[in-house]
Amino acid sequence: MDVSRLLEQLNDKQRDAVASPAADMLILAGAGSGKTRVLVHRIAWLMEVEGIAPWGILAVTFTNKAAKEMRGRIEELQGSALSNMWIGTFHGIAHRLLRTHYAEAKLPENFQILDSDDQYRLVRRVIKSMNLDEKQWAPKHVQWYINGNKDEGLRPENIDTHGDYNQKKLCEIYQTYQQTCDRAGLVDFAELLLRAHRLWVENPELLKHYQNRFRTILVDEFQDTNNIQYAWLRLLAAPSNNMIIVGDDDQSIYGWRGANVQNIQHFLRDYPQAKTIRLEQNYRSTGNILKAANAVIDNNQGRLGKELWTEGVDGEPISLYAGFNELDEARFVVSRIKDWQTQGYALSDCAILYRNNAQSRVLEEALLQESVAYRIYGGLRFFERQEIRDALGYLRIINQQIDDAAFERVVNTPTRGIGDKTLAQVREQAKENELSMWQASLQLLREKRLSGRAANALQAFIDLVLQLQKETQSQALELQADYVIKHSGLYAMYKAEKGEKAQARIENLEELVTACKQFSPPEEAENLSPLSAFLAHASLEAGDAQADKHQDAVQMMTIHTAKGLEFPMVLLVGVEEGMFPSQMSNDEPGKIEEERRLCYVGMTRAMQKLYLTYAESRRVYGQDKYHTVSRFIKEIPTEYIEEVRLRTKATVSRPMQSRFQSSASHTAFDSTGFKLGERVAHRKFGEGTVLNYEGSGEHARVQVNFDDVGSKWLVLSFAKLDKI
Ligand code: ATP
Ligand code: MG
Repeated sequence: MDVSRLLEQLNDKQRDAVASPAADMLILAGAGSGKTRVLVHRIAWLMEVEGIAPWGILAVTFTNKAAKEMRGRIEELQGSALSNMWIGTFHGIAHRLLRTHYAEAKLPENFQILDSDDQYRLVRRVIKSMNLDEKQWAPKHVQWYINGNKDEGLRPENIDTHGDYNQKKLCEIYQTYQQTCDRAGLVDFAELLLRAHRLWVENPELLKHYQNRFRTILVDEFQDTNNIQYAWLRLLAAPSNNMIIVGDDDQSIYGWRGANVQNIQHFLRDYPQAKTIRLEQNYRSTGNILKAANAVIDNNQGRLGKELWTEGVDGEPISLYAGFNELDEARFVVSRIKDWQTQGYALSDCAILYRNNAQSRVLEEALLQESVAYRIYGGLRFFERQEIRDALGYLRIINQQIDDAAFERVVNTPTRGIGDKTLAQVREQAKENELSMWQASLQLLREKRLSGRAANALQAFIDLVLQLQKETQSQALELQADYVIKHSGLYAMYKAEKGEKAQARIENLEELVTACKQFSPPEEAENLSPLSAFLAHASLEAGDAQADKHQDAVQMMTIHTAKGLEFPMVLLVGVEEGMFPSQMSNDEPGKIEEERRLCYVGMTRAMQKLYLTYAESRRVYGQDKYHTVSRFIKEIPTEYIEEVRLRTKATVSRPMQSRFQSSASHTAFDSTGFKLGERVAHRKFGEGTVLNYEGSGEHARVQVNFDDVGSKWLVLSFAKLDKI
């Protein structure tokens, strides 16, 4: 049997790990040192050399994408398809167990999974059914509380509320929620893990069966396991079994979601005989990228400590670009990607990574404008996100009351006591009389055919829409959006929620206002009101979502999503104080360290070329925020980094006069003869400010933000513009 190929392209330490006799093992090593590669080779080795059946191996990874990749790599090494091996995420494996043993897990055979949005809605309904005020018991917070306890393995009866009223109440909501789920056969994500754990605790025979079966357990990205996951692994890893865990404490980035990096120490405590292997050679990144990433992470305290080196070339220095605003940053990013493409590289070899999903919008628009294909992983396109759809729902209904989809979307968001029964009545009335739901509501109210409470609630909604409509009628688009978000109750609803996701929703709503401000209607929308034009734009953009999967496209994702992956070129954007590290992390040193680990993860995704970019000013919620370069960039020794200066010509600016007064670099003249920020007059459109220009001679175009009609692009050879 020739097994040499299983040990090819492995260094001594990797080989040691791959070919070691059966043992518990911790492979502790930095990014790109081949940890995942060792796992893959180890699995192949176990099967071919140790003669272990695929059936007896359990491999756990962090994402479905990673699991698929791992399976593919094993098959490649083996040269044949792999069947009967359990490779998956914790959630996937727990799900599989519960499906197989639903009766022992006390679940109905056809139990359903609740995703996190479904869970949220159910939590809300439960709060309402208990006659509790959502403002006081923000559903998001309750959801976070429930999941947090489940992650710790706690049922309501195990929680010590210390006699505290709030704690007791939360615990009661958890209990009612759980009863509702159990009655309806619903299982949320955290419940999958908790129940799979309980399944084994309560059924020792079953546990024994799996202990006998899975003699080898391998876990990738172990640093991000939470307590219930580790407890579950420990049950399975009976003394006669082997557990091989692979991790990097410097890449622990899910602390905010209950992951516990201490689990690495717990493993060493619980398996004192475990062999620790440290890998120190990095095979992924060039020397400059690696040394820079090492320098950044070196600023964290209490690391398990490891040095990474590479035999590879130093490569190009990291390029740093300071955009003067986020549009400029986006344009720079796109220009680099186009250069990359011109050099003959694939777009899919290139990734744009950002801290928050909300940052993708400006980048997406810049890519669309230049017709560069892109694909977003994890996270919806901007206009498809729940909170954005809610806000657009309000904008749509004030734009056109008969928009039934919008009506349905917002009539009870935020909840205002309009129940399913009332809505069913409205729908029926609309159907019978061929009316819109809006008209049907008015009719029902006029004819007093609703119960007192329902009528009041519906009337309040109608009044709200009319009021929003009236107040925003003559306002500029972004003020309309701002007003509607604030006064519809959406802002308050999301603001009341806790946690990272709620924060992201608020940021997205703010981003929507910015999008309105930056929107300039295309020529074909000349006759539409700005609001109608914007709504059309938003739905067209959303309609674009299903990009061709086989198309060569730039990869866009958050840094969290990029964990474990690698790309020849990486553009890490928004690396400025207040964005990255995020504003929220400023209060706690622990959080700053998690942000720094995230930065380390982001930088170490790059193989050949890394760009770091930031914006000196960024519009957040219609307001310019001035940020300084991130501390993480300052932590990189200057020899590894090179600043890109492109500002010979100011090409990007945005519709606000004050921008141009702040910096001399914005006042460059162009061949158009106009100056950015200059005031001009047009016969038809009136007075305005020059925002942008491009081209020359008869093709020269200027973008002007007119005081009355908003922003327009004008071809200078046609439009007569006077300086004033
Ligand atoms: P991360 O911490 O980011 O998950 P990792 O430690 O899991 O990284 P891998 O993804 O396994 O690292 O490996 C990084 C890259 O280095 C891969 O492209 C892999 O194929 C390559 N590699 C790993 N070990 C070797 C080796 N001994 N010789 C050549 N290439 C290697
Ligand atoms: Mg890996």
